Amino acid sequence: MNTRTVGPTATETRPSIVVDQLRKSYDSHPGSDAAYAIDGVSFDVPEGQFVTLLGPSGCGKTTTLRCVAGLERAQGGRIEMAGQTVFDAQRKQYVRPEDRPIAMVPQSYGIWPHMTVLDNAAFPMRHGRNRQRGADVRKRAMEMLEQVGLDGMADRWATQLSGGQQQRLAFARALLGDPEVLLLDEPLSNLDAKLRARLRQELRSFQERFGIAALYVTHDQAEALALSDTVIVMNQGRVEQIDRPERIYDHPRSSFVADFIGSANLLPVQDTSPGTQGGVLAKTAVGSVLCGRAPASGNEDWSSTGGFVCVRPENVTVRATHGRTPVSGDEEILGTVEAAEFLGDRLEVVVRAGDASITAFARPGLGCRPGDDVALNFDPACTSYLSH
Ligand code: ADP
Ligand code: MG
Repeated sequence: MNTRTVGPTATETRPSIVVDQLRKSYDSHPGSDAAYAIDGVSFDVPEGQFVTLLGPSGCGKTTTLRCVAGLERAQGGRIEMAGQTVFDAQRKQYVRPEDRPIAMVPQSYGIWPHMTVLDNAAFPMRHGRNRQRGADVRKRAMEMLEQVGLDGMADRWATQLSGGQQQRLAFARALLGDPEVLLLDEPLSNLDAKLRARLRQELRSFQERFGIAALYVTHDQAEALALSDTVIVMNQGRVEQIDRPERIYDHPRSSFVADFIGSANLLPVQDTSPGTQGGVLAKTAVGSVLCGRAPASGNEDWSSTGGFVCVRPENVTVRATHGRTPVSGDEEILGTVEAAEFLGDRLEVVVRAGDASITAFARPGLGCRPGDDVALNFDPACTSYLSH
């Protein structure tokens, strides 16, 4: 049962959060040209959606989230929540964290050990933005505990809960503050891999069931792809790409995104020309490659020189040449097998071609061994040309 009337299917399109050109440096000396922790970060969190900030350590994810929460003040930019401005650097507007329609779920859930499960859950109703009193508080908290499967545990000490139950309690408590959006900073990072995978599914199912927007921070690309409606890839304080998980994986816009998400083969490009049947023919040190995924010329992502060919190992075919040279015009790359590792469902083959090392996932039955000569073929429909 939904406790909120809005959800991902709502037709109204007011975003829960709008972040516009946020810029923050931790160096407070005026006039110093210290590096910005985040520099020109802009994105939306649409109502009911799960949006993830993803990037390597130090890229500015936590800074962004803390600015959204109001725990940090940026030097530039604007933040809107549920249609209201909560921060505007130029107009010197700033709404305190406790007055913003958010609930922050901290890393180890921030559960009070000296309180019962029920008192933990009821905390934001007794002390939060929309303070309430009396028997209603207990009733609502009990209802929410039931919804997350913690009924029957209301009177236990919070420390008696398992890791999974603590996550549910943190979630219930966050929702009882009636936030517009949940903010989560690497909430699963302290857990072992198996529990993490289970809890991320549960987190996603609660978020969907309650139709609440979430802004989630992680450096774990698998977690981001599995959980999100939209992934925001960050690098050195800037946004690299904002897209659905499938697009981030299949259509990375830069070599940084391609390399950070999954494993990608990246070959430096010397020169490009239009392909005869669309796409881009990219000349590399090891041969020419037809890239079916390429920005149109004139696009900001287009360049006639430089850049990279990007192809994922699952889109590289390996063929034994048995010493024969392929016919010219085949657009095949010749190389020598450096390593071949049997992984059950596939054979992971690393091929040396000139200075490049290219990884391919082949059928486990493909008999190929280190030292064998092979020809590689990139599926043009799944090969990208990236200009940077
Ligand atoms: P992430 O969460 O992606 O790992 P952070 O937002 O924590 O990245 O950090 C971004 C940059 O800001 C880093 O260079 C980090 O060293 C710096 N930084 C973060 N917090 C502080 C702070 N309180 N004081 C000074 N520098 C900070
Ligand atoms: Mg962080």
